[in-house]
Amino acid sequence: MRKGMRIEVKIKRLEENGYALAFYKGNKIYVKHAMLQEEGIVELQKQLKQGWVGEFVQIKKQHLGRKKADCSIYERCGSCHMLHMDYETTLQLKKEMVTNWLKEEGLSHIKVRNIFGMDTPYNYRNKVMIGFQKNKRKEVIAGFYEEFSHNIIPYKRCLLHHEKSDAIVQSILDCIKKYKIEIYDENRRTGLLRHVLLRHSEQNNAWMVVFVVANTRFPARKQIVRELLQKHPYIKTIVQNVNTRKTSIVLGEKEEILYGKGFIVDTLCGLQFQISSRSFYQINKQQCEKLYNYAISLCNVTKHASVLDTYCGIGTIGMCISNEAGNVTGVELNKDGVKDAKENARNNHIKNITFVQDDATKYMIYEANKKKKYDVVILDPPRSGCTKEFIEACVRCKPKQILYISCNPKTQIEDLKMFKKLGYVTETMDLFDMFPWTMHVESVVLLSKSNNVSKLS
Ligand code: SAH
Repeated sequence: MRKGMRIEVKIKRLEENGYALAFYKGNKIYVKHAMLQEEGIVELQKQLKQGWVGEFVQIKKQHLGRKKADCSIYERCGSCHMLHMDYETTLQLKKEMVTNWLKEEGLSHIKVRNIFGMDTPYNYRNKVMIGFQKNKRKEVIAGFYEEFSHNIIPYKRCLLHHEKSDAIVQSILDCIKKYKIEIYDENRRTGLLRHVLLRHSEQNNAWMVVFVVANTRFPARKQIVRELLQKHPYIKTIVQNVNTRKTSIVLGEKEEILYGKGFIVDTLCGLQFQISSRSFYQINKQQCEKLYNYAISLCNVTKHASVLDTYCGIGTIGMCISNEAGNVTGVELNKDGVKDAKENARNNHIKNITFVQDDATKYMIYEANKKKKYDVVILDPPRSGCTKEFIEACVRCKPKQILYISCNPKTQIEDLKMFKKLGYVTETMDLFDMFPWTMHVESVVLLSKSNNVSKLS
């Protein structure tokens, strides 16, 4: 086997990284933009530890759900992996993928009930992250990272973005050229501009621009702010975020507000939420509203119920459930998130909710040790899932129901196994397509105490 060699394969399965797996003489072949059961000639491109990466040069048997990707940079950009399929097929594949994971983990009794897609699965991202680089002709380009690399792929219009966001990026690029702003070089650690982050509320026609720079000194920033506001009056705030570290984490700790209040406000499920640059906010508002309404309707929350909303971000789910509950406590690690959450409760006149800034596991253990009981525990952890200690402590608080929302069903399934061991059964599992055209999917699981007595007292 060598680079450039052409081999005939049949696709056996779709991997969660967006590649399709085939086998050739005992070797694993990861085929880009292929679909299940397809057959054809693959050209080998790169050898990895696990096998070879290749691409179809000829498809002999094509999947019925295949279509032409309507994006000019799809072949190189690392963001989408499903643009060569029709939307219905992407939903089915995501459902199958999660069903297979359940089977592999011995949980085949759990059935994925639904996958809820979008009516118009485009322009959904309310958060946009742009990188910059100089190309070979020494011109500055703005775009996304190429897959498995630090190269930037330039773009003008992304199917997932709002058109106003892309227009702002083009204006920023013009300003960079006009004012000769140096682009940060991560190897030499020189230059200024690292990233630009945009966030918006479509409903309130409000955009936030965050310049992530490697220095507190940002020449020409006054002129740039003025020009951007002139061209895009819907920009309501501009922030300078300083990140001097050698890290792949985009945002730094230090910030200076260059214009506006430093946050934007979005309306979600009829409530107002202020969102600052470093707080977490779901990137697909339309699907998020559907998901929250659905998830909350699964819970039996009464006027006397006490609810714990862990990994609560800016307090969205907890506030949405608060008018049905007796009291709600939100727990979140990120300081800015908690600050936003407290403001949000005040602005929405919600009196029965409190927020704690803490690690969710630590807080859960603290509550369990106090013998605190909750009627409903909600958890919505990051992709890595929650901890074993969190689950043990959660069970000790004896919730009647646990609502587990996850942006990574794979880690969620691991956690469901542990909940099962400790006496909590999965009642329902549904998927929401929060991230159309990518391999990601959001999962909502309702657990309740089984009749078997829990192993922990
Ligand atoms: N439920 C919220 C946020 C979900 S994202 C929503 O729907 O908008 C996950 C959140 O967990 C993020 O806000 C992140 O800051 C927070 N987080 C990450 N690690 C944490 C930890 N160890 N303890 C508590 N919160 C954590």
